[in-house]
Amino acid sequence: MPTIDDLVVSVFTIPTEEPESDGTLTWRATTVVVVEPTAAGITGIGFSYATGACARLINDVLRDVVIGQDALDVSRNWSAMVRSIRNFGRPGIASMAIAAVDCALWDLKAKHLGVPLVKLLGQVNDTVPVYGSGGFTSYSDEELARQFSDWVHEQGIPRVKMKVGEAWGTRPERDLERVQFARAVIGPSTALFVDANGGYSVKQAVRMAKEFARHDVSWFEEPVSSDHLSSLAEVRSQTSIDVAAGEYGYDLFYFKAMCEAQAVDCLQADASRCAGISEWLRVASLAEAHGLQISGHCAQSLHAHPACAVANIRHLEYFADHARVDRLLFDGVLDPVGGVLRPDLSRLGLGLELKRADAQKFRVDN
Ligand SMILES: [Mg+2]
Repeated sequence: MPTIDDLVVSVFTIPTEEPESDGTLTWRATTVVVVEPTAAGITGIGFSYATGACARLINDVLRDVVIGQDALDVSRNWSAMVRSIRNFGRPGIASMAIAAVDCALWDLKAKHLGVPLVKLLGQVNDTVPVYGSGGFTSYSDEELARQFSDWVHEQGIPRVKMKVGEAWGTRPERDLERVQFARAVIGPSTALFVDANGGYSVKQAVRMAKEFARHDVSWFEEPVSSDHLSSLAEVRSQTSIDVAAGEYGYDLFYFKAMCEAQAVDCLQADASRCAGISEWLRVASLAEAHGLQISGHCAQSLHAHPACAVANIRHLEYFADHARVDRLLFDGVLDPVGGVLRPDLSRLGLGLELKRADAQKFRVDN
């Protein structure tokens, strides 16, 4: 048995080119916590877009849980990690820390078996559709036009998503102007999605949905806060636009509640947050049991393989920030040309390799 004999954690912080905002948050950098476990001379790689605090938790707690264990027993190691953080609380940082380790353990196992991860999981589809995701509220019209034109007209991606709910929903006229402008840029045949990041109130969201429908918007993400499942359900009941949420789901039980509340038309889940690929696959099954599809939230480099291994995948979010950060840190990042990601079957595991020399300048202490 290949025993896990080492596990190295590194933290990289990559500044954005300029401050970026959605409806309810502004950020200036993206931090990536990279985990590299080794077993019998083979090293796996996994990561989460998180905070350096995850690295501390991995080194203090999770590292000892998996060291000495069989690298092929991903489920056993995942369960042991979940049990180990009981007293710290499952949602948030603990789940993101487990996610980084779990993804690395899946990558490690696939490398040991000599297969791409999608073949270990069992491939259902050769490719997974993506949508270009950006359109930040902080963008000028020129920046929005440049980003959407590149995705739609240069790369042939037939779906894009933009942020609305600017300044906690206090600029609805500007939201509508931007949506109208985006529609003009992408033309009538490209799917247009919006994401309010919980910035609207219920009735405001219902009013906005009516306006968005006039511009043929087909996806309304977090019209209201995901903390209020009944509010999501209320908005959903009053619009023909698909309502989606789930990016703040950290465990199976949250997603169960979201499904049972009939809060969404498509469940979103993020393997870099919800304790890794192990839990993401279970969430996909849960969605299927409720007659729902699943969409991968951001972290497209982690989702490409598992997304091609579940039948009820709708699409993946091809997030602009992660596209940039991933290319700075990793070799083997997939291209979204034509609007799909196709796992590279000539590479083992997730197909990613840390560009150590290039990454060094973004390294921070952990
Ligand atoms: Mg979102």
